Amino acid sequence: MAERLIVVGADAGGMAAASQARRRRGRDDLEIVAFDRGRFTSYSACGIPYWISGLVDERDDLVARDPATFRDEYHVDVRLRHEVTAIDLDRREVVARDLAGGGEVRERFDTLVYATGATPVHPGWARTEAAGVFGVQTLDDGDALRDWLERDPKPRRAVVVGGGYIGVEMAEALIVRGLSVTLVEQADQPMSTVDPDMAGLVAEAMRGLGIDIRTGVTVTGLATRDGRVTGVCTDAGEFPTDVVVLGLGVRPNTALGEAAGLPVGPSGGIRVDRRMRVIGVDGVWAAGDCVETLHRVSGQPVNIPLGTHANKQGRIAGINIGGGYATFPGVIGTAVTKVCDLEVGRTGLRESDATAAGFQFVSVVAESTNRAGYYPGARTMSVKLIAEKPGGRLLGAQIVGWSEAAKRIDTLAVALWNGMTVDAMTGLDLGYAPPYAPVWDPVLIAARKAVDALAE
Ligand SMILES: Cc1cc2nc3c(=O)[nH]c(=O)nc-3n(C[C@H](O)[C@H](O)[C@H](O)COP(=O)(O)OP(=O)(O)OC[C@H]3O[C@@H](n4cnc5c(N)ncnc54)[C@H](O)[C@@H]3O)c2cc1C
Repeated sequence: MAERLIVVGADAGGMAAASQARRRRGRDDLEIVAFDRGRFTSYSACGIPYWISGLVDERDDLVARDPATFRDEYHVDVRLRHEVTAIDLDRREVVARDLAGGGEVRERFDTLVYATGATPVHPGWARTEAAGVFGVQTLDDGDALRDWLERDPKPRRAVVVGGGYIGVEMAEALIVRGLSVTLVEQADQPMSTVDPDMAGLVAEAMRGLGIDIRTGVTVTGLATRDGRVTGVCTDAGEFPTDVVVLGLGVRPNTALGEAAGLPVGPSGGIRVDRRMRVIGVDGVWAAGDCVETLHRVSGQPVNIPLGTHANKQGRIAGINIGGGYATFPGVIGTAVTKVCDLEVGRTGLRESDATAAGFQFVSVVAESTNRAGYYPGARTMSVKLIAEKPGGRLLGAQIVGWSEAAKRIDTLAVALWNGMTVDAMTGLDLGYAPPYAPVWDPVLIAARKAVDALAE
């Protein structure tokens, strides 16, 4: 009899695992069934802001593979609209509710992949039935928001609550659609994934793009009329609006796993070893937004919910389930985003993280340009480096700038990943031509400045 693999959550982490396992083991050897409570599999939530803005035309452009492709090409039985409601580790079976047809199914497993993703944070005031209030976690959320934006009377004003990268990307999407946009953030700056000085640059640039940013403001409720949202109530007054988008962050979706006895670590994610096996639970693997992983710089367990990690972790789990050997090396928190033409990149530790992890460090911000100063289109770029003191090992980096800024973070991520010092970085052989960089690339200028700061 073939071994049975059940996957709970059929998106990035889950289906990367299923695909890799299938590559290594034929269907007579391994039967794979994947459950997802949603209507889509292998979809890109990351693309939602660009579909909302209209840059991407069709929702289905965001779906990489459908169940028919998985069935015909991968011999994976994907069952959408099936919510797994219980995992019984003793009986080795899952219980799934058929959300479309009704009823319940029980499926036996030998091996299980837990890849349930993350759950959006919804404070009490956000639990409203008011029309015009949207999350942006799933393609269904995107469908509902697009429908609202296109329906008459067309919304003219939008409030985005939460200034993380999803809130920032949604503010862009709504500005691009021609709405007047207010972004409300409880902290002193949006983009708390970078240090306050760099976040200040983001806020300033966003204001320049016409986004009304209100920081240090706490939302207390929503105002409605005839069932429609009309305003966001805050401790700084009410912001009238026709549509509210919630971007308040996420937390690992572990409830089902915890109920079954899967261990949860201090970051709130499921505890896994480097092969993505759930610690202490035979035959159960986990991947993606729901797991805890190692931060390679701080050495701390972290949960950083990003698609890039989910895909890699799922692949590692799948290779191992398929009989190979692979390990996930941990993360350094590299991420990029943009608001219109303003780009933001970050990797490693912020100053606050470095302090919390007990490092002594220097930090510098170097201002330069993305191209030679005389070359058309040259625009400013700020590169921040945080380097260990003494020694100069790179601990963290952040970039805020216009075109060609964000992906420069990858150079810094590679340097950081490999434990380079800022001194060694000054000699990096990076490409130069006037359309692409000044003769000293912004990364090199920042490294030189950090070397000087270490010498002071
Ligand atoms: C708007 C937006 C923009 C983003 N942009 C980026 C970006 O630019 N870069 C980046 O790296 N990441 C980005 N992300 C994050 C990225 O989408 C996630 O990190 C990634 O999707 C995580 O993959 P996952 O498989 O762990 O979880 P998910 O993709 O959330 O998949 C989990 C699946 O499990 C299903 N599920 C949950 N519970 C059950 C259950 N009990 N039974 C059955 N099914 C269940 C859910 O329906 C879901 O389909 C973005 C996310 C959003 C929302």
